[in-house]
Order: sequence, then structure tokens, then C-alpha cells
Amino acid sequence: MTNIERTRRHIGMSSSCPVCGNGDETILHVLRDCLSARMVWSQLIPPHHSGSFLSSSLLDWLSSNSPVSGFTGEEFYWRHLFGIIILHLWKQRNNFVFKGQIWSTPAIIHSAWSWAKMIYTSHSSVHHQTHRVATNQRWCPPSTDLLKLNIDAVVNHATLDAAGGGVFRDNEGAWVVG
Ligand SMILES: [Zn+2]
Repeated sequence: MTNIERTRRHIGMSSSCPVCGNGDETILHVLRDCLSARMVWSQLIPPHHSGSFLSSSLLDWLSSNSPVSGFTGEEFYWRHLFGIIILHLWKQRNNFVFKGQIWSTPAIIHSAWSWAKMIYTSHSSVHHQTHRVATNQRWCPPSTDLLKLNIDAVVNHATLDAAGGGVFRDNEGAWVVG
């Protein structure tokens, strides 16, 4: 909980930012306006997002940069990177408040890039796999002394929730277990 919320609920004495001491610690301050956050964003904001990036309201800022379906390429990459960066900045703030540690700007950026790259790669491979399955839908039975295991899985790219399952069938296609 930010210090402005803590003082509003009478469980904190100061509403100031514990990291920079420069202004009230609101959500937007932690995620965008704090000096430590600005150092990260200043190296990442794409040119087409730079106009109102540092001046919009919290809701406008989140909605115009958050991952939603329908984006591809650089915009897909940016919106996932954005979500990962704000998670890192919130964790950095808590790390400082509760452990007295602060992550360096390069460390935050490096970690966030790695996560964004992993999401982008998994998104691309799922699309590739979907295409491959769609062009090869006929089930081929195993030989008589074998069982065949078919598996499938799905990933929600917005939440990263995943689920999978499988089924064993004999050479006549009859269900055995799964
Ligand atoms: Zn601050």
C-alpha cells in the first residue's frame, strides 16, 4: 500500500515517497513519476507513445499502454514490456521499503526485456503450432501393440495462465485413459 493510502487510513505518518522523498507516494508516482521510475522509462518509451506518456492520468496511462489482444509486432512487444516494467517498479518499491534494497536501472530493464522476449517467443510459437495442427488434423492410429498419447495445451497471454491434458488411445481409436 502506498504512503498516501496509509495516511488516508490513519495507519501512516507521512505521505511522502520513501524512495526519492519528492512528493506524495501515489500509485502513479511509484510506477511513473518517481525519479527511479523515470530513469527506467526514459530509456524505453517508444517515440509514438512519448507525447502524453509522462503527463496522462493513471487510468489513461494504463489503458493506452496495457497488453490487450489485437496487437502484433513492436506494439505487442511494447505493451507486454510495459506491464512487466510496472510490476518490476512496484516490486522495487517494496524491496526498498521492506528490505532497504534498490535495484539498478539496468537490472530492471535487463530483467524486463528477458520476460518480454519470453512472452513474445511463446506467443509466436503458439501461433506457429496452431497453424501446423490446423493443416494436419487427421489422427493416425498406432500399431496394434502400442497406445498413442495425444496432448494439447493452451496459454492465456494476458494472464500467463496455462492448462494442458492428454489422452491414450489404442490402434482402433478407443479411449484407454486420460
Ligand atoms: Zn519517489
